[in-house]
Amino acid sequence: MKLKDIIKRAHKLSQPYRVSDGGKFRLEDVEPDDTGDLTEENKPEAKDALQMGVGALAQLQDLLYAQDRWAVLLIFQAMDAAGKDGAIKHVMSGVNPQGCQVASFKAPSPEDLDHDYLWRCQKHLPERGRIGIFNRSYYEETLVVRVHPEILKKQKVPEKLVGKDLWENRFEDIRAYERYLGNNGVLVRKFFLHVSKGEQKKRFMERIENKEKNWKFSATDAAERKHWKDYAKAYEETIRNTATKEAPWYVVPADNKWFTRVVVAAAIIDGLASLDLVYPHVDKAKQDELAVARKELENE
Ligand code: ATP
Ligand code: MG
Repeated sequence: MKLKDIIKRAHKLSQPYRVSDGGKFRLEDVEPDDTGDLTEENKPEAKDALQMGVGALAQLQDLLYAQDRWAVLLIFQAMDAAGKDGAIKHVMSGVNPQGCQVASFKAPSPEDLDHDYLWRCQKHLPERGRIGIFNRSYYEETLVVRVHPEILKKQKVPEKLVGKDLWENRFEDIRAYERYLGNNGVLVRKFFLHVSKGEQKKRFMERIENKEKNWKFSATDAAERKHWKDYAKAYEETIRNTATKEAPWYVVPADNKWFTRVVVAAAIIDGLASLDLVYPHVDKAKQDELAVARKELENE
């Protein structure tokens, strides 16, 4: 399939999951086990489509790198075991590692806490021509921090600033920050991998029962299940307040990994395609230089 056709298909496939105007967004409108027009029987085709998508991504990334103007920031957020790591690994598998960097954000260090919360993320923004992936991000500031007020207490924010407007202010600042990034040539795309509580349980059980997956299991992750509803509310509020046309969220059904990966790949292809990337123009001087080099090589 031609790149042009893959791009068209990617747009159609990812569109239903895109939220670019958060106002009316409701989490309950997206089913975690949704697989669009595809069924379990289409799984092999979906895998082929992913393979094609991975190839298309590689081509687009080559253009991005050669043009060296735009940067792309992909943000991944999810509950534990929703498949962030696997989605990142599979979707980016064909991309030249030189043009791609992943930053994972865990609980902040003492040095992080001595700064504003964007500080540690700002340091990991992708350079022009590159794709940067945030595995968790500053969005934790309106998610885990909101669900656990004790984390906020440790943040050393001046007391006077911790009032009822705190979350509203954070949303506004994040919107402004992403607008700033957009105005500076950083394309921002955000992914919430939406897994159901039942599927998470299944995956945790597998981590407990399968020896090779034991290392992935953490009792703290399982304990967070008690706060499931609070997290759902925090995600909904966050997406409502930060989904914009320039920096949309994709709320991707995550109960079926094969489908999640196809949608994520499609959304990234759609984003890259919107940049109308082209290889740098070869001017007359460069053409002359190439002609001279060819002659010299031929005459060696
Ligand atoms: P894995 O799939 O390996 O579990 P992970 O992204 O969940 O990957 P963890 O090592 O479990 O990685 O640690 C991430 C933890 O750090 C999460 O529980 C997350 O909520 C927490 N975290 C991230 N950013 C912040 C923050 N700003 N404040 C407090 N906690 C944070
Ligand atoms: Mg974890």
